[in-house]
Amino acid sequence: MTHDPHAALAAALDRFPRAAAGHVPTPIDPAPNLGADLGLDLFVKRDDCTGFGFGGNKVRQLEFYFGAALEQKADTVLITGAVQSNYARTTAAMAARFEMDCHLQLEERVANADALYRSSGNVLLERILGATLHPYPDGEDEAGADRSMRQLGDRLRADGKNPYVIPLGPDNPPLGALGYVRCAWELVEQMREAGRDFDQIVVPSGSSFTHAGLLFGLRALGCTVPVLGICVRRAASLQRDRVAARTRGVGALLGLDTVITDADIAVYDGALAPGYGKLNALTRDAIKQAARREGLFLDPVYTGKTMAGLIAAHQEGMLAGRRVLFLHTGGQPSIFAYGDTVLE
Ligand SMILES: *Cc1c(COP(=O)(O)O)cnc(C)c1O
Repeated sequence: MTHDPHAALAAALDRFPRAAAGHVPTPIDPAPNLGADLGLDLFVKRDDCTGFGFGGNKVRQLEFYFGAALEQKADTVLITGAVQSNYARTTAAMAARFEMDCHLQLEERVANADALYRSSGNVLLERILGATLHPYPDGEDEAGADRSMRQLGDRLRADGKNPYVIPLGPDNPPLGALGYVRCAWELVEQMREAGRDFDQIVVPSGSSFTHAGLLFGLRALGCTVPVLGICVRRAASLQRDRVAARTRGVGALLGLDTVITDADIAVYDGALAPGYGKLNALTRDAIKQAARREGLFLDPVYTGKTMAGLIAAHQEGMLAGRRVLFLHTGGQPSIFAYGDTVLE
């Protein structure tokens, strides 16, 4: 019997329940004007168009967490994230759709944030969705944030609820990354149908569920296109280890051999400073250039920084060729929370 990587991956993924919500497959659009500016054949995979609850990459990830929550007959779901977390907003929307209460713990990750940051964008949407918001004072203490959320879960359980705490901490199996293993499958199909390959894929790399899931999925399907992760949260040296650990975690979760080598893991942090959720000149320029040349909206925290990183990495000669696919992971609601600081 010949080994069919598609069948092996399909069988592995099928073991996980999934609460379908996203509009997929998402389109791949050319970006000819921005591409011409940069000297690239640039394409954009529009995961900002996953549709549900303002879309973005968290829809694909949450389909698996809500699959697990529904299987456990949860009536309440909890998640922790930054104040302008897209994960929190998308969780609140999915909870509404699947008739669960939603508690969001919002961490102070961005120092000196103003009133607009705290009230507009994703926070406003969460309040419209009827989620309960809990502030958390420290945005860098991942373990502490997880502990505090579990304590909240315990209190809800004591009140007779059946809560599901979405487990995002680094010690938990990367269930959400399976959403991007599926996306890799979708992308390989799209490349096959269009008869088109890419020289380079560029993705944001935060928790790295997106980066690690996509990379694992591509390699598991025999696709060797290089994937460059643009750091949006931590320095490249730390992020590399995180992506490596996450890809091993994906293999373990799926019960498949790890197909990732050290050389597969590429990260770039030249657009990260001064840090998570903080704008810089490169990011402001990338946001304006994508809008003014393509009518394409990028966000200040993730996709603007990722485009800024793509441009800077290209200038440093780090891209593997000129046919480049940029994964747009959404996040546009936070544009309104950053207001005109984007234009400074
Ligand atoms: C969360 C998020 C990311 C980062 O994705 P990870 O899977 O956490 O690495 C990128 N873009 C947007 C818009 C996000 O909300």
